[in-house]
Amino acid sequence: MTHSDEIPRPRGERDVRYFKGSTDGKRPLTKDPLEGAASAYDLVVIGSGLGGLTAANVLGRAGHGVALLEQHYNFGGLATWFRRKGGHTFDISLHGFPIGMKKTCRKYWTQEIADSIEQLDGVRFDNPQFSFETEFTRVDFTNKLVDVFGLERAKVEAFYDELRRMDFFDPTTETTGELLERCFPGRNDVHRLLMEPISYANGSTLDDPAISYGIVFSNFMSKGVYTFSGGTDTLIKKMKAELVANGVEIFNSVLVDKIVIEESPMGERRVAGVEALGRFIAAKAVVSNANVLTTVHKLVGAAHFDPDFVAKAGKVRLNTSSCQVYMGVRDGAELPWVTDLLFTSTRPTFTSESLCDFHGESRTFSFYYPKTRPQGRPRYSVVSSTNARWEDWAELDQAAYDAAKDKLAADTLACLEGYVPGVGGLIDHVEVATPRTFAFYTEHPTGTSFGTKFEGLEVSTQLPDEIGGLFHAGSVGIIMSGWLGAANYGAICANKVDAWLYSLAEVSA
Ligand SMILES: Cc1cc2nc3c(=O)[nH]c(=O)nc-3n(C[C@H](O)[C@H](O)[C@H](O)COP(=O)(O)OP(=O)(O)OC[C@H]3O[C@@H](n4cnc5c(N)ncnc54)[C@H](O)[C@@H]3O)c2cc1C
Repeated sequence: MTHSDEIPRPRGERDVRYFKGSTDGKRPLTKDPLEGAASAYDLVVIGSGLGGLTAANVLGRAGHGVALLEQHYNFGGLATWFRRKGGHTFDISLHGFPIGMKKTCRKYWTQEIADSIEQLDGVRFDNPQFSFETEFTRVDFTNKLVDVFGLERAKVEAFYDELRRMDFFDPTTETTGELLERCFPGRNDVHRLLMEPISYANGSTLDDPAISYGIVFSNFMSKGVYTFSGGTDTLIKKMKAELVANGVEIFNSVLVDKIVIEESPMGERRVAGVEALGRFIAAKAVVSNANVLTTVHKLVGAAHFDPDFVAKAGKVRLNTSSCQVYMGVRDGAELPWVTDLLFTSTRPTFTSESLCDFHGESRTFSFYYPKTRPQGRPRYSVVSSTNARWEDWAELDQAAYDAAKDKLAADTLACLEGYVPGVGGLIDHVEVATPRTFAFYTEHPTGTSFGTKFEGLEVSTQLPDEIGGLFHAGSVGIIMSGWLGAANYGAICANKVDAWLYSLAEVSA
């Protein structure tokens, strides 16, 4: 979806001010979003997801001239929020991340940001195979596997140790499903416990490589699940302030159309800059935080790459998308304590596919209480998330689309009612997001929430070998996705950009 989806309406009409995203198009631009932009920078970062933001901050702090261009009016990418009438604020992807995010924020952002990261009190599972609350720490999780599932402690420890020993460069072809079956044969209930939270966190399935599971699970399985206290709006506000303090020039509502490539007479390809809003901005390096396939095919164009590389990129599979239901509790009402994160399903057994059901029986509830999301007045909200397939939603006509959204909202409220009887009477705002919504707001193909499958990582890291000064930092390869993966990948990418810019400086010195 592009700006051409806008529905032009006469100026001054009241409803011009309310845009419902994927339904009635993007807000028309009323001023030049690139006002004040220079004609050239050391580097341009396309996109302000956590990968783009972190790359921009590290490089700005290192003294490079950085422009960050984001097509949305908000910064943060999927790490974002929106407000609705009645004082509601909803977070999109702030459900939980590993403790490692604290170190990442301290190192690449500020101590203050790191200090706002707090552990969730409760993670609950409820399905026909098991039902309990866990701290999601290694100690508590091990106890559950031993006491509830009857596994030998030594076997559980050996499993963790095997995951920790996994080497990224080990050429094993084992899938996650095979790994789980080898370690816990015939135990679908154990597989469910070990896999379900990871699938929700990064869209991975039992068919994905065991290595991607091992790395992500090991990150989570240490000291519990964490959140940013104060919400995404506070986080992004602090990040923007830090970017500006580090000299990064940030621009919203700027859709980059093209990464411009120049070719030397010797056939060497290099980035020359970007085109956005009909303007050329020169840059010695470009970091794309857009999806890696968008970067190759749309922003650069296949003609600028070696055919073998294009063929390799052509085999990269996109990851799944998401549906969410946002439920706001009315001002003054209180939500009783349930837990922070609830993985719930009525499915008798676990399959990866079932997490993407069009009318799913499996969902994750995030409960936002004033303790984790302090704001002016104490407010409560619940966000339900499910993994989802683009194909199920893409072709629905408007009536079918609206009906499917209504059904999702009704099913979700009915499910929530089972945990909070009478909750319908407390909620005064319900809204649904689908893969179409995610595609609309992020420009990600098929609304992918978690980038690409494993093979996308190689394509992402090889971009600078194909075109000098072209880098990618964003959810890719399962491992480099989620808040921690995306932010860390931004920092890794920044180091490579830094080296590239210094190499250029040395050549011209
Ligand atoms: C429903 C949902 C729940 C999630 N829950 C969690 C969770 O609890 N914990 C967790 O760790 N992770 C979670 N994630 C995943 C996590 O949010 C993402 O992996 C991470 O935020 C992605 O960061 P990114 O750097 O890849 O960029 P993205 O967030 O994908 O942002 C990319 C940015 O690039 C911009 N852009 C794209 N093209 C252009 C262009 N041409 N010009 C200008 N700008 C452009 C987009 O507008 C966007 O802002 C969740 C994701 C979803 C969808």
